[in-house]
Amino acid sequence: MSELQGKTALVTGGTSGIGRGAAIALANIGARVVISGRDEVRGTQVVQEIRSAGGQADFLASDLRDEASARSLAGRARELVGHVDVLVNNAGIYPFGPTEKTSEQEFDAVVALNVKAPYFLVAELAPDMAKHGHGAVINVTTMAAEFGASGMGLYGASKAALALLTKSWAAEFGPYGVRVNAVSPGPIRTDGTAGMGDDLDQLAAAAPAGRPGSVEEVAEAIVFLATDRASFVHGAILPVDGGRIAV
Ligand code: NAP
Repeated sequence: MSELQGKTALVTGGTSGIGRGAAIALANIGARVVISGRDEVRGTQVVQEIRSAGGQADFLASDLRDEASARSLAGRARELVGHVDVLVNNAGIYPFGPTEKTSEQEFDAVVALNVKAPYFLVAELAPDMAKHGHGAVINVTTMAAEFGASGMGLYGASKAALALLTKSWAAEFGPYGVRVNAVSPGPIRTDGTAGMGDDLDQLAAAAPAGRPGSVEEVAEAIVFLATDRASFVHGAILPVDGGRIAV
């Protein structure tokens, strides 16, 4: 299948977990992918994996923390591939813990990566997509943006902001052919959640599926939103959470 042949995709946080899975899945259907992250070793591994399967991939090192780093990454991606057709705002952190123990530094880091970086990546790339008359932005939010969970307030609030931005950007860029949507995963086994051990299973137990999801299951939803299969889908937040927020 080569649905995205001739198209390019920038996947932030493509060095690990959901981003890595999304990059591989997008490359599998023909996209030339650019993955970003801070870890050059993991980035190179993902690039090699995609290339050895016959796909096209490059790594751009980027510590996303503010407007300048986001615009710089977008600019370097554009220099590399000419034009970015698909943006997957996936890079994110999810430190959990009591409100009283959260430092201002931690608060700022969560908001910087989970909200500010996607904001300025979209600011830099979506107008270009609009000029071309097509494009897709997929934001990775979380089920924890949908309900109150003790110790997950800061994380959930940052992703709730991204969920609202998804709808705002659908209104802003949709009329110019740019579809902006989100996936909202439940508990997924990744490098980032490895440290949670059994807690991940407990978090998953409340959902109809009753188990954590896989990276591939989230990547499948991202691929759907990135392709013309979702041609009439704008501003949607697609839960990929085993049914958790439905019940
Ligand atoms: P992960 O395995 O920890 O990977 C996180 C990715 O973000 C890595 O590629 C990391 O790259 C990148 N990243 C972290 N800090 C960065 C920074 N300052 N600048 C640039 N890149 C940075 O995470 P994951 O579990 O796959 O989660 C990916 C996304 O899904 C996140 O937005 C998360 O909130 C969301 N999500 C995850 C779950 C879950 O259960 N796993 C559930 C719902 C939503 P480097 O280390 O190379 O910088």
